[in-house]
Amino acid sequence: TEALLEAKNVRVHFPIRKGILQRTTGYVKAVDDISFSIQTGETFGLVGESGCGKSTTGRAILQLIKPTAGQVLFDGEDLAPLAAEQLRLKRKDMQMVFQDPYASLNPRFTIEQILEEPLKAHEERDDAEWKRRIADMMDVCGLNKSYLKRYAHEFSGGQRQRICIARALILRPRLIVADEPVSALDVSIQSQILNLMQDLQEEFRLTYLFISHDLAVVHHLCNRLGVMYLGRMAEMGAAEKLYANPLHPYTKTLLSAIPISNPRMNKERILLQGEVPSPIDPPKGCAFVTRCPKAKEICKTERPELLPVEDDHLVACHLFA
Ligand code: SF4
Ligand code: MG
Repeated sequence: TEALLEAKNVRVHFPIRKGILQRTTGYVKAVDDISFSIQTGETFGLVGESGCGKSTTGRAILQLIKPTAGQVLFDGEDLAPLAAEQLRLKRKDMQMVFQDPYASLNPRFTIEQILEEPLKAHEERDDAEWKRRIADMMDVCGLNKSYLKRYAHEFSGGQRQRICIARALILRPRLIVADEPVSALDVSIQSQILNLMQDLQEEFRLTYLFISHDLAVVHHLCNRLGVMYLGRMAEMGAAEKLYANPLHPYTKTLLSAIPISNPRMNKERILLQGEVPSPIDPPKGCAFVTRCPKAKEICKTERPELLPVEDDHLVACHLFA
């Protein structure tokens, strides 16, 4: 199989400007040298605490935020040099589903208008064909046809997220970047939406970049995983390997907090001391050094590289170098 998406050394650094002259005094290194690839039809999970740069990475992939450096290859083509109009055309292939289905739907639009918008932006008008496609998409997303003329605010969070998913899929994209798509929903609704996303993935052979702070949520969904900390990739690889044999002390911490039955894992919850350092002034060596229970002298000065420890399992930690 071939990678549908490849991120190579992606950086997103936001300048900090101060004073009347708006001089740049530093940078927030929101995403700092991230590389990963996603194969067609697979789900890649990007996990980490809020503020670790996973949402920014997702937006940089879709070029909603321009990466400061690095490449994003979609189907082998670098998106970074594309002009606005070329990028607009690419959006047909790459769509995003956001965390908050309340904020991301226009309250003045009916469901029909919401689903028509992407078609208007990308395709020749064809009323009969559009009607059919909208009806089909509502059907596969579990939305009743009688909803067509109703407004988004009339629906529950779960239904709204179904509408957002239908809108994202109406152009038949190949890649979906889903940023915490179930975090704003009741726990009882979350699994319904996750199941829907899995069904749709099979039906339309979708490739997902699934962003979440919750390792329990991505557990059933992802083929491969990347764990981010402070703008960097701490550990990455096949999901079953990361869950069965987490190596990075940060991944171990995250996994110790969730109830996944795994006899090989120490069940004791590891509690992290201290706060995540500021991405304006990250530690010189390992990003995790200020909170790591295993930190050594070298960790303060040398940044650990993301290196393979076994097939499809990489870790950035001096304990394994
Ligand atoms: Fe901890 Fe050092 Fe490994 Fe970083 S490199 S996770 S500080 S042991
Ligand atoms: Mg976020």
